[in-house]
Amino acid sequence: MKRLYHQAQIASEDSSQLQLGDVLVEGDRIIGVAPTISGVSDCEVIDCQGRILMPAMFDIHVHAREPGHEDKENIGSCAEAAINGGVTGFVMMANTSPTIDNAGVVRTVLESARRARIGSSIYVAGAITKGRKGEELAGIAGMKSAGAVMLSDNGHAVDNPQVLRRAMEYAKHFDMPIASHCEIKDLSGKGCMHEGKVSYALGLPGMPSISEEIGISRDVRLAEYTGVHLNIQHVTTAEGMSTIKRAKDRGIRVTCEITPQHLIFNQEHIGNYDTNYKMNPPLRTAEDNAALLNGLKDGWFDVIVTDHSPHTPFEKNQDFASAPFGITGLETALPSLFHHFVSKGILDWGLIVKRYSAEPRRMMKLAPVPVKEGGLAEFIVFNPERSMTFTQDFMKSKSINTPFIDQTLKGMVERVIYRGEELLVR
Ligand SMILES: [Zn+2]
Repeated sequence: MKRLYHQAQIASEDSSQLQLGDVLVEGDRIIGVAPTISGVSDCEVIDCQGRILMPAMFDIHVHAREPGHEDKENIGSCAEAAINGGVTGFVMMANTSPTIDNAGVVRTVLESARRARIGSSIYVAGAITKGRKGEELAGIAGMKSAGAVMLSDNGHAVDNPQVLRRAMEYAKHFDMPIASHCEIKDLSGKGCMHEGKVSYALGLPGMPSISEEIGISRDVRLAEYTGVHLNIQHVTTAEGMSTIKRAKDRGIRVTCEITPQHLIFNQEHIGNYDTNYKMNPPLRTAEDNAALLNGLKDGWFDVIVTDHSPHTPFEKNQDFASAPFGITGLETALPSLFHHFVSKGILDWGLIVKRYSAEPRRMMKLAPVPVKEGGLAEFIVFNPERSMTFTQDFMKSKSINTPFIDQTLKGMVERVIYRGEELLVR
């Protein structure tokens, strides 16, 4: 049976404008895209008037917590959270227990991932160093052959520049990107939020912007020296962003990530010690929000990521200094970008498709999934007229540590189509 998605506003990375049209799906393929398609027999017609139809999202920075932290999340619940947010593929970070630092763990994790509904689109980043301790290199060659697509010690930086340099040389040899969490630990110390007027007012130890910025400068120079593809994770300061831009202009192979939370929130939101605003790198200043948003519009960021980081209420309900860093994001990212930026005309759908669907796939050497005849049917239908309240019941993630909990945002992911199959309809 064919399905006809009737009169949708179709988004593409190539245009800031939406195209009104019909999309016909059979099996796992799009078999027609045209202003109108009629006279199709044996066909279910789905009214998409007023809806956006766009390639499904892909997130290269996700903490699925399996193995070892299944009280927070497992790969299955993480996949369901992804689908709930219009995301049909992601790359898992290596800070599990045991750490994903050798071929055996990569294989085990990928086997477990295959049981998820989007199992063939779940990928694994291997650790850079054994146990993410920053001392000895992980089994990079073995992880590559077992299917790891990237290397990262995300959660913290590789402190020793010689260790990172060697890792970069290996990564270049194996044609894998290195993803860097940039932070100079001696500068961040025991900081739990951005160092600035709010941390002074709240009496909390701060993490200064220069901690991240010096980390970025160092890693960019090492990337230049080794020739590796370096991806800078979750950039949060205007200065760090400018450093990356200058490196790109000089031809260094560096890319970078931006998260919705670092565009929307800043240190002021921590006023009542709400741990749902505690993350690393921390929320910075309103000036950084504005600069990062301009950077995203101007093409300085390659990819949008969530850094989806589930934690249990038990952990997050501690005092601000003791609670773990990180918030969930897979289910809220797209609606929050729509609510705060797209619906106000600040960002357009073409940019969202490019940065949150096409470029992340390309960075992992995967094919993007544009809405075109002959292409894979992997898209979502988004209704800008409905709104969504992010209650605990709505969330498919095992964890609810997000500033959006119980908030209502404009826009709703109504349908998620994965390789021709409708995984979500509401
Ligand atoms: Zn992370």
